[in-house]
Amino acid sequence: MPNYVITPPATSAVPVKGTDQLFPVRRIFCVGRNYAEHAIEMGSDPTREPPFYFTKPFDAVVTGGADMPYPSATKSLHHEMELVVAIGKGGKNIAIADALSHVWGYCCGLDMTRRDLQNEAKKTGRPWDMGKGFDLSAPMGDLIPAAGFDPSKGKIELKVNGKVTQTSDLSKLIWSVPEVIANLSELVELQPGDLIMTGTPEGVAAVVKGDVLEGIVEGVGEVKTKIV
Ligand code: MN
Repeated sequence: MPNYVITPPATSAVPVKGTDQLFPVRRIFCVGRNYAEHAIEMGSDPTREPPFYFTKPFDAVVTGGADMPYPSATKSLHHEMELVVAIGKGGKNIAIADALSHVWGYCCGLDMTRRDLQNEAKKTGRPWDMGKGFDLSAPMGDLIPAAGFDPSKGKIELKVNGKVTQTSDLSKLIWSVPEVIANLSELVELQPGDLIMTGTPEGVAAVVKGDVLEGIVEGVGEVKTKIV
């Protein structure tokens, strides 16, 4: 056994739907502005600029429908409903045509955002980390294996307290799942256990304590959490 001077961090994991199996999480990459209507609502130009990324720590995941605590230091906690891609086979400079063979599976996820901190960071040219990568900022539903799901289309929707706030279709992704995998793998060597949050459609909005968030991606499943 390695002689660690402190206890090494526990692994985070996402459950595999309908089993007792777990997908261990290594890193969480997130794509910014990947639906045109969301780019417009954020005040950006949705023309096809290259994709860009930010990250969350691996232990930001909240699974099993567990509650999400309202985070510190914000008055504007926003929901962003997203398709999440779980990488099962790593690689660099992955070809678009080969990209889906690197996917272990898919799940629904929420890229919860301290929007006021993110907006301040944008204004001052500072990093987004504290707006995006805070504790427990990534509720996720159960994973389904890649086989049998085509990520090029499918309804994506979020309800807050039973009312639809975000609704769109995966076919509206500016950068498709294979394109994102290929592009990201030119920037870092993807590793098994990496998750990619693929971006959110329009309709992002603030939530408050007590709100119940229920998201679906048609063919994948759901993500559910209550803000407490
Ligand atoms: Mn997002």
